[in-house]
Amino acid sequence: MARRETSVAGPGSRALIVDIVRSAVTISRVELADVTGLTQPSISNLVRELIAEGIIHEIGSADSIRGKPRKLIAITPATRFGIGFHLGPDTVTCVAVDLTGGVVGREVVPRTDALATRFAEFTSGLDLPRDRIEGLAVVAPTPYPGEPAPDLAAVRADLSEQLGLPVLVENDAAAAALGEFWSRRVSREQAFGCIYLATGIGAGFVFGGALFRGASFDAGELGHLSIHYDGRPCPCGNRGCVERYASMDAIVAAARGNPSLSARLGLGDPAATLSRSHDAIARAAVHGDPAAFAVIDEAAGYLSAAVTSMVNLLDLGRVVLTGPGVALAGSIYARRVRDQLERTAHSRQRHGVTVELSAQPRDAAGIGAAALVVQAAVAPGHTPGASRS
Ligand SMILES: [Zn+2]
Repeated sequence: MARRETSVAGPGSRALIVDIVRSAVTISRVELADVTGLTQPSISNLVRELIAEGIIHEIGSADSIRGKPRKLIAITPATRFGIGFHLGPDTVTCVAVDLTGGVVGREVVPRTDALATRFAEFTSGLDLPRDRIEGLAVVAPTPYPGEPAPDLAAVRADLSEQLGLPVLVENDAAAAALGEFWSRRVSREQAFGCIYLATGIGAGFVFGGALFRGASFDAGELGHLSIHYDGRPCPCGNRGCVERYASMDAIVAAARGNPSLSARLGLGDPAATLSRSHDAIARAAVHGDPAAFAVIDEAAGYLSAAVTSMVNLLDLGRVVLTGPGVALAGSIYARRVRDQLERTAHSRQRHGVTVELSAQPRDAAGIGAAALVVQAAVAPGHTPGASRS
């Protein structure tokens, strides 16, 4: 919190103040001036504007050492809302969050392409006033090169016309990172990363308060970081991608290779879906089945090698593990990743790397989508071009 980022009020000052108030939880105007280097009059003007717009509010006073009470300010949660839709293979996860990233509504429905209708049903079911909804973000997994995928640019254009609201699109792992950044109140000064485990393995990064997107909104393909140059072939065209060793698919395949474990967990049942089979293995692993534990722990070991390379490349200070892949056995992954980073992270003599587990791993991409909308509305300037188009 000590670094002075700017000394003049400019277009980024407003986003800076919102971000600092968000991560500080409560703060005074004097502290804001200290942290930002902006003048007291600039802070007063910006804070007055943000209070008038319902983005922040005063929450009483704290004692000051000089005897004059300081008024504290905080983000106002329930004045405005962002909506996020996460398109899964068979479902749409619909989430509404308030300005702090707190979830105010969630629904999972069968996959539909009628997203405008879904938006109307979801928001009216929650009784959210239309004029308090800042927009919608739709997120989906990134396909392999050449694989068919929803045309998110077309989805965005259609939906913004039908809804008359801002519509953003993003890949699911990047959205999840922004959601964790926003709702965990991570400071914009932390180099923050998020690992998203689902059918694939993705990552997202937030630097200086902004999601890092790369040249084509494709940053964070952690699953295709090779951990073995001559290893298992991957549909992406490379070999030894960590996704071939640590994804839900790879875990189910490894467990099926152990006949007694496979029989015990019913993995041979042709009706069992990938996620149901994976969850059966993860559940058995955390309940002390040694064979199931060995399968998950091995996957976590492979993942931790890839995460260490990622942390070294970017000098990250804090990472969160999220996604449906860590919903049940996240503690096994967190322990492995923590151990590996403590022993081998290049930065370990200078700073530790905090490793945390998401509080809502299954909904993280939908929450992140909704948080993208909130950030674009109240701390603009971090989403140049609004999103990929
Ligand atoms: Zn690959």
